[in-house]
Amino acid sequence: MAQDLIIDMFPCLQDNYGFLIHNPATGSTATVDTPEAEKIAARCRARGWTLTHIWNTHHHWDHTGGNIPLLSEFDVDIIGPERDKKRIPGMTQGVEEGDRFYFGDHVVEVIETPGHTIGHIAFYIPSAGAAFVGDTIFVAGCGRLFEGSPEDMFGSLAKLVGLPDDTKLYCAHEYTLSNGYFAVTVEPENSDLADYMAKARKLREDGQPTVPTTVAQEKKINPFVRAVSAEELGKRRAAKDNF
Ligand SMILES: [Zn+2]
Repeated sequence: MAQDLIIDMFPCLQDNYGFLIHNPATGSTATVDTPEAEKIAARCRARGWTLTHIWNTHHHWDHTGGNIPLLSEFDVDIIGPERDKKRIPGMTQGVEEGDRFYFGDHVVEVIETPGHTIGHIAFYIPSAGAAFVGDTIFVAGCGRLFEGSPEDMFGSLAKLVGLPDDTKLYCAHEYTLSNGYFAVTVEPENSDLADYMAKARKLREDGQPTVPTTVAQEKKINPFVRAVSAEELGKRRAAKDNF
């Protein structure tokens, strides 16, 4: 029987989250993305963990900027999207849709989620009921379409909400209130959304994160997940860009 993974989440930069995943059975520790090298290193030291892996979701600087700095302190494997190997500093292993790799005795599944960037991937750990989704899905929102199309994002969100309902989705930014204020304009009658927003406001007032969310929750409150077509998603995304 595998020992449960320990997930440690902490704020980085303006509104990013850092994530450490520790496997007590093997002593391995992975960071999902590297928004802030010093903070990630300090967190490892405080926990008595040695960083062994970096898993990059996409190439943006606030997700990969700490890759090289962390190499000066830790001997790490850097796993990222094969399609972005030229854009991810220090990447040692490229992965693609459907690839699986082992983190000790836990399987990690790679899901390609293009849209925000072309090469964007998510890391799904079935044994932990957790997916690390980068800038693809946010609480009540989705990533900006910097490189991909509405069709890309529509397909990517469908894959993520196709995971089991209780899967925890670890989004890389705390964008919930801003997303929620927009979502309410799209679905003013959605009482689940209104109820959730009251809860989220309270959490933020208390300095608490709204991440992770769950698949079940996003199906109820996320106007991008709830869009019935790529065209509708595209219209909503354009409206949010100007909100
Ligand atoms: Zn990004």
